Amino acid sequence: MDFEKLAELLFADVHETPADIEKKYPPRDLPQDAKVTRFAPSPTGFVHLGGLYQTIVGERLAHQSGGVFYLRIEDTDDKREIKGAAQKLITTLAHYGVNFDEGAVIGDDGEIAYKGEYGPYKQSERGPIYRVYAKDLVRRGLAYPVFTTRDELEALNAVDKKAEVKSREWTEDLAEQQKEEMLARRNFTIEEVEAHLKNGDPFVLRILASGDGERKVKCTDLIRGELELPENDRDEIILKSNGIPPYHFAHAVDDHLMGTTHVIRGEEWLASLPLHLQLFSYLGFKTPKYMHTAQVMSLDANGNKKKLSKRDMGASMDDYTRLGYAPECVREYLLTILNSNYEEWRAKNPDLPYTDFQFSIKKMSNSGCLIDFEKLEDISKNVLSRMTAGQIYSGALEWSREYDKDFASALEKDKEKALAIFSIGRGGKKPRKDFGRWSEVRPFVSFFYDEFFAPEDRIEGFAAEDIASCLSAFAAGYDENDDQNAWFDKIKQIAAQNGFCPDMKQYKADPSAYKGSVADVSSFVRVAVTGRLNSPDLFTVMNILGKQTTLERIDSYIRSL
Ligand code: GLU
Repeated sequence: MDFEKLAELLFADVHETPADIEKKYPPRDLPQDAKVTRFAPSPTGFVHLGGLYQTIVGERLAHQSGGVFYLRIEDTDDKREIKGAAQKLITTLAHYGVNFDEGAVIGDDGEIAYKGEYGPYKQSERGPIYRVYAKDLVRRGLAYPVFTTRDELEALNAVDKKAEVKSREWTEDLAEQQKEEMLARRNFTIEEVEAHLKNGDPFVLRILASGDGERKVKCTDLIRGELELPENDRDEIILKSNGIPPYHFAHAVDDHLMGTTHVIRGEEWLASLPLHLQLFSYLGFKTPKYMHTAQVMSLDANGNKKKLSKRDMGASMDDYTRLGYAPECVREYLLTILNSNYEEWRAKNPDLPYTDFQFSIKKMSNSGCLIDFEKLEDISKNVLSRMTAGQIYSGALEWSREYDKDFASALEKDKEKALAIFSIGRGGKKPRKDFGRWSEVRPFVSFFYDEFFAPEDRIEGFAAEDIASCLSAFAAGYDENDDQNAWFDKIKQIAAQNGFCPDMKQYKADPSAYKGSVADVSSFVRVAVTGRLNSPDLFTVMNILGKQTTLERIDSYIRSL
């Protein structure tokens, strides 16, 4: 077969050669070992946790090596573009600190724009480039056309291809039959091609597979190590009849020209790796390094791991926003499961930015990305406990403006008070860990606000007149100018005067000699003032509430006895 002639017939409009294209995409001027990574989604408007998981890897590897992290929009399947989906993806990832250097960006007008010298970054705009490489493969006898008539094509498009394949059971016979069909497709003459073209018949372009499915090809995945996968023996389609390639061919051409050094993608692509290696080899491209990230798993009610489906809670990044997780917390969680030594590093360096951590491919596990809400909550409590009162204020306010308007107005009405509340137990070596999510802030601080105050606990196990007597004495002697020592001395005094032991050691030596201890008296005051048996430091709480509220609450508790 005269392949030159075949290539000219099929791609008469293509005048450039791969060498011409290569000139437009010179090697990137980057430090040695700099990694170029990308995220290559088909945006749907649904931002999946798995996407964030993957992009954190790409972002870290690129940026900590002085490389480039870019966003390529993969829109080669015929589905209609979803308005605003790419914008949503970019803003959601940016919210979690994942920012792209190049590729699709949001322009000043809010529309998607493109930045960088290695574009177009949207596959549907790269048709002419793919065709140059496709023509070259035909010219070298590595790809060939398969014609159909328009009627056949329409009929083909009308059936649900996936359903058809699924319903046919895979048998040896079928494999054999497919192989024969494939070999038959390879058999054609230039005259037939000419006739088809004259007739205006559409064609798809298929790669001429050279592999043997019985043999294995060695592939390296940087997370999974050395793998042996069956060689590609299928003549996969590399250009559809509309001239646009399916994923495989586009991946090879784009990642080559855009200078990707590390392809980080979902594990569903692992099985196609031999095909991709074959394509890179046919095209004469250096293969990038591959990393296939595991699917996101969750725990079911029985604690068993299961694949997190799109409908499950926690699959969409919107879930985390709604539930009130700060982006820093989710990111911290993902880093913890991405690198096995991250948690230890964080324990040693509680205050360093996560970008100081040396992210390492070697420390990535292939056991999967597990979303475990209990662990996320723990990590989130740690992260929030290290924030400043000001950060807590802004985070809680921003979330509440959207999801809890009453609380947002309370926070806005008296910022000083809110800051004083959020400062309690903050800043020391062992900061308080009272909440892990913005949605947990109001329940925790509600007793500070008269409008939300709803007592949860009562004092149990003591005589009403003893409680009343202690509380009345406390109210009578309360002086908001007392310092913490004077304040506590008064509680001790009240204890002693009412038959409660003022000294804990003494009390423990002979509890039956007293009605209770100074701790019990403190808890009378605590429950009266906060409505809870547990609260942050009571002295500080009273200072924030002010004398009037403190005394009103004590009075109302006495009356309720
Ligand atoms: N568009 C592909 C996907 O969303 C990209 C895979 C890749 O990163 O190469 O799965």
